[in-house]
Amino acid sequence: MKKNLYAVIGNPIDHSLSPIMHQLFAKQTQQNICYEKIFSPVADFESEVEKFFLQGGAGLNVTLPFKNRAFLLAQDHDVFAQQALAVNTLVLKNNKYFGFNTDGLGLINDIKNNIGYDLCDKNILLIGAGGAARGVIYPLFQQKIKRLLVANRTLSNAKQLLNDLQLPFEICDFESVPTDPFDVIINASSMSLNNLLPPLVARNVTTQTLCYDMFYRAEETAFMSWCKRQGAGEVFDGLGMLVEQGAIAFQLWRGVMPNTQWVLGKLREFI
Ligand code: NDP
Repeated sequence: MKKNLYAVIGNPIDHSLSPIMHQLFAKQTQQNICYEKIFSPVADFESEVEKFFLQGGAGLNVTLPFKNRAFLLAQDHDVFAQQALAVNTLVLKNNKYFGFNTDGLGLINDIKNNIGYDLCDKNILLIGAGGAARGVIYPLFQQKIKRLLVANRTLSNAKQLLNDLQLPFEICDFESVPTDPFDVIINASSMSLNNLLPPLVARNVTTQTLCYDMFYRAEETAFMSWCKRQGAGEVFDGLGMLVEQGAIAFQLWRGVMPNTQWVLGKLREFI
């Protein structure tokens, strides 16, 4: 019989939509699962993970601020985790932790399949150089993009990213963002949490620009509203990315891929 206990671990964790989302996946694919939230004190992440799997846990999602420690804890990694040096999904196989990173593919699947946009040959501005940005850069390059510029408040963090990933992207600080138009602008900074606007200028956005905020909430973010005011072609939040990364984790655990568009529609009612 398949084990059926799953959870998301983080700090804070109260806000997480993952339990509702995974129950929607389970309902949609006619699976029977339990999915819990685990609040972990910062010092106790590794022991909380061990406790969860000792209690019969089958799979764990990892969120802020533990994705890097989950990478270090895992003895084996998929190529996306290996590139990002961060893990958001853990499985215990043959007494070894296997770490996956589904964030990047989640973003790509949302943009390609839900939004219907082809990233091939596109000129992309990625704002932010934290964990979320780290997870999406390698999958973006797999889409054969033309150019990627990563703009971050703290240049040294962007330099660290460039050094870790060894991919041909450019970096700049917020003062040096060019005034040219981009095909795609992705906000992977956490500025939207405080309704702050990244340092863009009107010329960065055209009627052809796809603008994507990884953050999501019930109302539009300041970034989304600003992009719309500049006449951006299409503007999206990150709920689709959340659902897509979760669906890949669900498939890894249960061997079946849910219909994400149905779950995305339902989940909007909960934010
Ligand atoms: P991190 O804490 O790892 O990184 C935060 C990033 O935001 C850094 O680049 C940081 O820059 C920048 N930043 C934070 N505050 C400011 C500020 N006041 N002004 C300018 N830059 C700032 O967070 P994550 O990368 O994990 O998350 C980033 C965003 O992506 C969040 O909004 C999160 O909710 C979202 N996210 C969405 C997911 C989804 O599935 N939709 C999945 C994962 C994340 P600096 O280096 O200078 O500190």
